[in-house]
Amino acid sequence: MMMSEANATNLPSGMRSLVPVRTVAGLREAVRAWRTAGQSVALVPTMGAIHEGHLSLVHAARTRCDRVIVSLFVNPKQFGVTEDIDSYPADEARDADLLERTGADLLFAPPVGEVYPDGFVTTVTVSHLTEGLCGRFRPGHFAGVTTVVTKLLLQAAPDIAVFGEKDYQQLLVVRRLVRDLDIPVDIVGVPTVRESDGLAVSSRNVYLSPVERQAAPALFRTLTAVAGRVAGGSTDCAEACAWGEDALRAAGFGPIDYLAVCDAATLETLSRADRPARVFAAARLGKARLIDNVAVQRT
Ligand code: AMP
Repeated sequence: MMMSEANATNLPSGMRSLVPVRTVAGLREAVRAWRTAGQSVALVPTMGAIHEGHLSLVHAARTRCDRVIVSLFVNPKQFGVTEDIDSYPADEARDADLLERTGADLLFAPPVGEVYPDGFVTTVTVSHLTEGLCGRFRPGHFAGVTTVVTKLLLQAAPDIAVFGEKDYQQLLVVRRLVRDLDIPVDIVGVPTVRESDGLAVSSRNVYLSPVERQAAPALFRTLTAVAGRVAGGSTDCAEACAWGEDALRAAGFGPIDYLAVCDAATLETLSRADRPARVFAAARLGKARLIDNVAVQRT
């Protein structure tokens, strides 16, 4: 490992300190030094293209731990062959700047060959929770996520790892993963950060044309309306979802991958929201595939 990697986080403030660490050895060396000093460590996994949603995870990490690692890795294993990995937005210098100002201590931005060296053949999969919702429409996606998250947790060995409720299915899958594999880390979930018109902040919003951007908040509005309709547990969820799909189509969305009311813990599709539930949707708007989810309020 180059010295600059481990020392990057010790430079005086005012100097550019967040030089990304590129190697697992460099990451482990920095974490070891913090542990020796008795400090707690948080990990915030991202694919870069940092926005307010990511920064709220960093804030949450900062309030809970002495040191915050943010990983920036566009994980090829979680993209399908027809998906947007080649056009995925990337600007590492801008990301480093934003993250440094928000209080990150270390950026871990390994090249693909460091994460998946030649001969790599291991996959970590979580069944059941990954089968519905996005799992049905993105074959292999969750196996890619759980494999890379397992690696990041073993590499950084953090006390906590922070994930967004924006990707609620992913959050539950990661919680299951660490429980099933006895990985000693607390998984912290953070509420979705939204634009003032309700659209969930997302790296993929850059794909929206100005007209699509105007239409996009209909996703959150529709999910909220469906959640309102099914609250109380007596309304048929399928009917409410059919109404919601029509509303999304009227707003310009399509195709709609899913719109469903699911058990908030198991993700089982519900016909009545008679237990803690959330409404989930994924739908295309132009070139973008937008996902979002909201809680059904308990009445
Ligand atoms: P990504 O870089 O899109 O893989 O996201 C990295 C982490 O940021 C994941 O845990 C996401 O759930 C979380 N995240 C993305 N968008 C938001 C948002 N709008 N609010 C809160 N967390 C988010």
